[in-house]
Amino acid sequence: MVRGIRPHVEGRKIRRLLRCPCERKPILLEPDFEQMVARAEGRKIVRVWRRAKRVVLSLDSDDAFVIEPRMTGLMLLEDPPSVGHLRLEWQFAGRSSYRSVWFWDRRGLGTVRLLDPRQQDEVLGPGNLGPDALETTVSDWDAICHKSPTPIKVLMLNQKKVAGIGNLYASEILHLSRIHPETPARNISRQKLQRLAENTVAVLELAIRYEGAALSDGTYRNALNKAGGYQNAHRVYDREGEQCPTCRRSLIVRIVQSQRSTFFCRSCQPKPRASRR
Ligand SMILES: [Zn+2]
Repeated sequence: MVRGIRPHVEGRKIRRLLRCPCERKPILLEPDFEQMVARAEGRKIVRVWRRAKRVVLSLDSDDAFVIEPRMTGLMLLEDPPSVGHLRLEWQFAGRSSYRSVWFWDRRGLGTVRLLDPRQQDEVLGPGNLGPDALETTVSDWDAICHKSPTPIKVLMLNQKKVAGIGNLYASEILHLSRIHPETPARNISRQKLQRLAENTVAVLELAIRYEGAALSDGTYRNALNKAGGYQNAHRVYDREGEQCPTCRRSLIVRIVQSQRSTFFCRSCQPKPRASRR
C-alpha cells in the first residue's frame, strides 16, 4: 500500500483535507476533524512510510498522519471499490497524475490520527513495537525468541516482539523455514533462526511486491485498486487438504493458535522434541 502511493504522495502539499460524505459509522479521527484541518492544510508531506501495519504520512511541520487500516481500510489514489465508503481525502496543491489520496474503509474499523513528535514516539517508537520484521536479522530473532516458551507462530504475531508479520505470512515463513508452528521459541536452533530471519524478509518483500494479499472478501487491495496477487503465491495458507508444494507427499493441515488459523506440513515441519537448546 505504501509503495503504491509513495511516488504520488511524497513531496505534495496538502491543499485541503476533506471528510467524505459517508453515511456509515464514522471512523475514529484524532484530534477532531477541525483541528486536523488546521494543522494539515498548507503542509507538505515529506515522507510516506510504514510502521508495522500503519501507514505514516510525515509532514514538514513534524506532525504525522498515522493511518491504521485494520481489517478493510485502504489508501487509494483512484477507483475506490465503492464511493460510499470513502472516509477522508487529502487533496493536493499543484498538478500531477493524481489529485488526491483517499482513505477508504468498508467496515470503518480503521483510524486516522495526526500526531505530534512526542505522540509519534509513543505510538511508533520501540517501546510499543518490536523491530520492523522487514529489517530483522538473526540477532534480532535470537533476542525475540530468547528464553520464550511461547509457540513461535504466536510470538511472530505479537507486535510488541516483532512488528509487521500478518497471520497469513507467519504460516508461509514457518513453512519455508521448516519450523513447526508450535515449537517453543526458545527451542529453535540458531541455524533455524537464521532461516527464519531470511525467510521473514523474503516473504514480506514478496508480499509488498504483490501489494498485500487479496483476502477472500476482496477488500484488501493495493493502492491502485488492482486485486493483489499474493493469494496465488501462498504455499500453505488457506490450502488445508492440498498437497504440500515442497515435499509433495503430505497434505497441508490447519490448526488454531490463539484464535488464529495456522497452516503447515507435518513432514516438512516436524513436531519439536521436548527441548533442544
Ligand atoms: Zn511438506
